[in-house]
Amino acid sequence: MSELRELYQEVIFDHNRRPRNRGPLPGANREARGHNPLCGDRITLRLQVEDGVIREARFEGEGCAISTASASLMTEALRGRPVEEAEALFRRFHALVTGEGQPPGEGPPLGKLEVLAGVRAFPSRVKCATLAWHTLEAALHGGGTVTTE
Ligand code: ZN
Repeated sequence: MSELRELYQEVIFDHNRRPRNRGPLPGANREARGHNPLCGDRITLRLQVEDGVIREARFEGEGCAISTASASLMTEALRGRPVEEAEALFRRFHALVTGEGQPPGEGPPLGKLEVLAGVRAFPSRVKCATLAWHTLEAALHGGGTVTTE
């Protein structure tokens, strides 16, 4: 079990050091900003959605290792995914990191996103891990700015 935890930490470390899909997205047609005042994490998420499918997802912003790694892992998980499936993934991810209920049995597998399961033990970190996902919800539902407080 501790080996698994080390592996998880390694993935988070790697995604924080070399975030995937970080930068502007010129062809974006969805955008939202997220702010986690408790930790100071800020994210701007941009998506290119076509025919109900997220073709591209990129983010910008500054934050702690958990929020950066989570945004990086999320954008990787979103690319090429239908919007409905992305929302189902968010519900499963949210259940995973909050420990509230079991992840719904139906739906896409969490895959690499499971490396963030460890934040469950640290309530303040849950907000860091879910910030990108709340920002995704905002981007898919009209944009604007979301805050975790
Ligand atoms: Zn944070």
